[in-house]
Amino acid sequence: MLETLGEPSYRAGQIMKWIWGRGIDDFSIMTNVTKTLRTRLNQDFRVLRPIIRQTKTSIDGTIKFLLSLSDDRLIESVLIPSGDHYTQCLSTQAGCPLGCRFCSTGRMGFERNLTSGEIAGQILSARAFLDEKKDQLPVNNVVFMGMGEPLLNWVQVEKALKIIRASDALNFSRRKVTLSTVGIKDKLIEFGRSNLALTAISLHAPDQNLRKELMPEAARYELEDLIADLESYPLAPRERITIEYVMLRGINDHIAHARELVRLLSRVKCKINLLKFNPDQKSDLESSGEQTIEAFQNFLRSKGVTVMLRKSMGADIFAACGQLKARLDGH
Ligand code: SF4
Repeated sequence: MLETLGEPSYRAGQIMKWIWGRGIDDFSIMTNVTKTLRTRLNQDFRVLRPIIRQTKTSIDGTIKFLLSLSDDRLIESVLIPSGDHYTQCLSTQAGCPLGCRFCSTGRMGFERNLTSGEIAGQILSARAFLDEKKDQLPVNNVVFMGMGEPLLNWVQVEKALKIIRASDALNFSRRKVTLSTVGIKDKLIEFGRSNLALTAISLHAPDQNLRKELMPEAARYELEDLIADLESYPLAPRERITIEYVMLRGINDHIAHARELVRLLSRVKCKINLLKFNPDQKSDLESSGEQTIEAFQNFLRSKGVTVMLRKSMGADIFAACGQLKARLDGH
């Protein structure tokens, strides 16, 4: 676009650096750009980023944002404090068409895909908020784990990942970026080959029937096919796929399920993240109890599986995907 204005191609990189690297949205401040171009950009363009409409801070330090987009649609993003930095959870769609039973976003239905600018822009919105609060903790990690299924919006998500990774933009290294997906046939391998981020798979069930019950749409990608794709998935040496498994009382938390999980994943280079379920008022599901989770975790360990229990953060502020917006909408 800049070349059509008679500008050299390096200008795009300079402007990227101002907008994404330094969080500047006023073209007048971009001093290494000619005055004529600054005036032209100010006349014809605006830098938009999601606007924070509501924030909630948990007693554990988790900060949840309700953000509005240029068409007033609402999305969520969460900052999770982890030691010396925040990990930010990003949304990729307003709503989600997949309707997983344990997810508030799933109950809202699908509104629209986000653009790459709206996806990566959530980081700029969060950084501006932290700056204003004089909060020094940097946002060093991002996870695509908010509202929406990233691989259903792959074209925009790929562009957003490039902005997040580019050294003249947000400049995150690959190991600081994780994309979490239920697995979308063909797109999963395409994402893996892009080499842009680490991979997490929302599995949540060790067999096709149970997965279909919990995640009816996601289960169209048969578990057998998903696992076969994961067995040959492109990974860097020593890299492993993260398998996300939410512990649901009486549903997927028996030792028999753990045994099945070990068998299912025996040929996949992976580690397992067990998650406590953050229930909401509309859900008919409950989180497994402490002892059950411990027994499940111990069984997996005894079989040589690397397993971690992810703490449930921000339960007091409805920090699980879609819960804040769902409360606002009455879902
Ligand atoms: S868990 Fe993810 S894929 Fe499933 S409905 Fe929620 S946002 Fe969509």
